[in-house]
Amino acid sequence: MSDLRELYQEVILDHSKTPRNFGRPSETTRSGEGFNPLCGDKVKIHVMLDGDVVKDIGFEGSGCAISTASASLMTENLKGKNVSEIEKMFERFRSVVTTPTGTEVNTEGLGKLAALVGVREFPMRVKCATLAWHTLHNVISGTGEMAKTE
Ligand code: ZN
Repeated sequence: MSDLRELYQEVILDHSKTPRNFGRPSETTRSGEGFNPLCGDKVKIHVMLDGDVVKDIGFEGSGCAISTASASLMTENLKGKNVSEIEKMFERFRSVVTTPTGTEVNTEGLGKLAALVGVREFPMRVKCATLAWHTLHNVISGTGEMAKTE
């Protein structure tokens, strides 16, 4: 388990230092912003939707290592997926990071996103980890609202 924990920390460090899909893709159809006042994380998500499929996705913003790594991992995981697959993935991810420590969680199907499972030990960090997801949810559901973790 400690090996796994180290691996997870490496993934988070890697994605926070070298975020993937950082910036605005050349073609985008929708954008939205999110803010986590507890930590000061800000994120802007840009998507290029073709029907209900995310053809391209990018993000901008500044925040802590967890929020940056989470946005990076999220964008990497969701390219080519459709809206309903993304909503299902968000539900799974959210349930994993909000499951109390000591309770077994099933990270199957989450891929590298499983690296963020450790945030459940730090309730304040859960908001950092889910900010990009809440923002994306607003973007793809077209509410145009700014996502807030409060
Ligand atoms: Zn944060």
